[in-house]
Parts: sequence; structure tokens; C-alpha cells
Amino acid sequence: MTNPRMMSTYSMWSLFRNCRMACKLRYLDFLVALESDPNLRFGSAIHQFLECWHRHRDLAQVLDRIDRAYPNRAGDEDQQRDWHLATAIMQAYAGRYPSEEFAVVELEKKFEGEIVNPATAATSRSFLLAGKVDGIVRIGDEHFLLEHKTASLLDSGYLERLWTDFQITLYVWYVEQTLGIRINGVIYNILVKAKLQQSRGETEAEYEARRAELIAKSKTGKSTAQRHMPETDDEFQARLAIKYIEPGMFHREILYISRDRFAVLQAELWELTQNFLDARRRDTWYQNTSQCFQYGRPCAYFPLCRSDFSPLVRDNHYRIEPPHTELSDPSTTTDNAPVF
Ligand code: SF4
Repeated sequence: MTNPRMMSTYSMWSLFRNCRMACKLRYLDFLVALESDPNLRFGSAIHQFLECWHRHRDLAQVLDRIDRAYPNRAGDEDQQRDWHLATAIMQAYAGRYPSEEFAVVELEKKFEGEIVNPATAATSRSFLLAGKVDGIVRIGDEHFLLEHKTASLLDSGYLERLWTDFQITLYVWYVEQTLGIRINGVIYNILVKAKLQQSRGETEAEYEARRAELIAKSKTGKSTAQRHMPETDDEFQARLAIKYIEPGMFHREILYISRDRFAVLQAELWELTQNFLDARRRDTWYQNTSQCFQYGRPCAYFPLCRSDFSPLVRDNHYRIEPPHTELSDPSTTTDNAPVF
């Protein structure tokens, strides 16, 4: 009897390449941090709202979906912040792109294919590769992958680094092989996250302290200072709407795919599979500590590694979750983790 092949994703191989221990903790031990990363959470949510928009082109439906995604926003600061940002982004997005130069062919399309040794054309007996693309669109006779990105800062460096997005090049190859659609390039649909914060206003004590300070500096011994009241939701939405009129808040970048890179990426993927099998056989997963603070935040497994894998830390900070949930549940996607 043959062993069933292990399903893999680009996220898994990317994690293995970055830190073998992190890969083992997620894909063999099935550990997920109880506290999810707010940036990943927001990116995943925006993907769902964009899918809804591109599928129905009905802003009221998108806004209703946003409302339902943040049911506790009245008492939860994180939900309130994300609701404001998502609402402002999607309203502005609908205004910026009232019509598209492309026709949507597929949205949130999954694929599953063989991992091939490019040197021998043999398929892996240990792994399959699955993934999901945000969209496939057509302009004239050419097809493109549509790839949504949320960015904190969009500058020339960000656009330069799109070249390093190996995931999308690999996905192009798999889409061509498994869905039979020739892909010419990728349309990066970049949405910038405004850094504006809703003003909380002043407490009575803060106001009194500020007023006393002004009076002390005043020659007349008086002050006409008014208490700063909290910014209402409508006021903050109006401020965000002005921000999103700026041209740099949305950007589309088209990159044509170099087909020479398919073979390079396939070879790299094959090499990773062989390294993984070797690591699993020897149960040796080294910790690449240079990756512990990638993206300017601690790795999800940092508390566990730092505690030398204390069972107490494991039980209190992690839960067991099957791998590749991003393929079935859009609200938990990690494939959309910021590449940069
Ligand atoms: S904390 Fe560092 S060493 Fe540990 S899994 Fe994460 S990246 Fe690897």
C-alpha cells in the first residue's frame, strides 16, 4: 500500500526555507498561535471584501459584509479600527475603479498539482502542491493573475520587490498546468492602509490639565480653550475619505512573467522537498534565528522557542489547527501574508 502524499502549499515551503523549526511546528505539529497577527487578519478580510466587490460589483453588499465581519466593533477597539479602514478602503476603491479594463474569469480559484523534478520529469511520490489565486482576468486575448496586496507604504522599493514574489510565478505555472489557461502576467492590485487614527478626544481631567497649562502661560490669566471631544464615526469616515482621494492610495502594477523562471522555481521547489524529507527522516529542524523578527514583529512561535518548548507555553499560547486552512476558509488565509 502506498502512503498518501502530503499536501503542501507555497506558504509551507516558504516557511521551511526561512526556518525549518517554524515549518515543523505549523505543518507537522499543527500549532497555531492563539493570538493572530492583526496585519494578516486585516489582509485576509480585505481579500474577502474585494472578492465580493469583483464578483457582484455591488457596494451596498460589500459594506453589509464589512458590517457583519465586525459585529463587536462598538466595544472592541481592534474591530472598530478595522471596520473603519475596510469601510473607507472599499468605498474609495469602488469610486476609483467604477469599471475595469479587465474581464473577470475566475475569483479565489484553487488549484492542485504535481511537484515535478525538472531534471527527470518524475513526479513527487511524497507531496502535492495546492494553492489559491485571488483572481484570473482577461484583457483582450491575454490572461493575467489578479493579486491583491495591502501595503503600509507604497514606494519604489515596494514595487521593485514585487520581482521577488516567487509565489506568484510558481502559481502561474500551476494555473497553466492544472487549469489550462496560459497566463501572460500578474496584475498587482495594491491598496495602501491609511495610518490615520480616530481621535479619542480628551477626558475631563486631561482637558482641565491642558486648560490650566494654557492659563498659566496666558498674560490675561484666562483661556478660551474648548475640550477636544471624541471624533464621531461619521467625522472619521469623512477624514478617511479625503485621505483616499490621494492618487497614491491605490495602485495597479502589471508584471509580465518571464517563462525562463519556471524551471528555476521548479528546481528550487524540488530541492526543498528533498531537504524536507531529509529533515523529517532525521527529525532535525534547525532554528533560523535570523527570521525571528522578520517583518518587524516576532515570529508566531517566538514564545515557544524562547521557552525551550515549554509544554506550559505550548498549552497556553497555541491551539491545534489542521494545515492549509487558507485553502478552505478565506477568513484564515495566510497565503496573503505580506511578502515584504
Ligand atoms: S521564533 Fe525564530 S527560531 Fe523559532 S520558529 Fe520562529 S523563526 Fe524559527
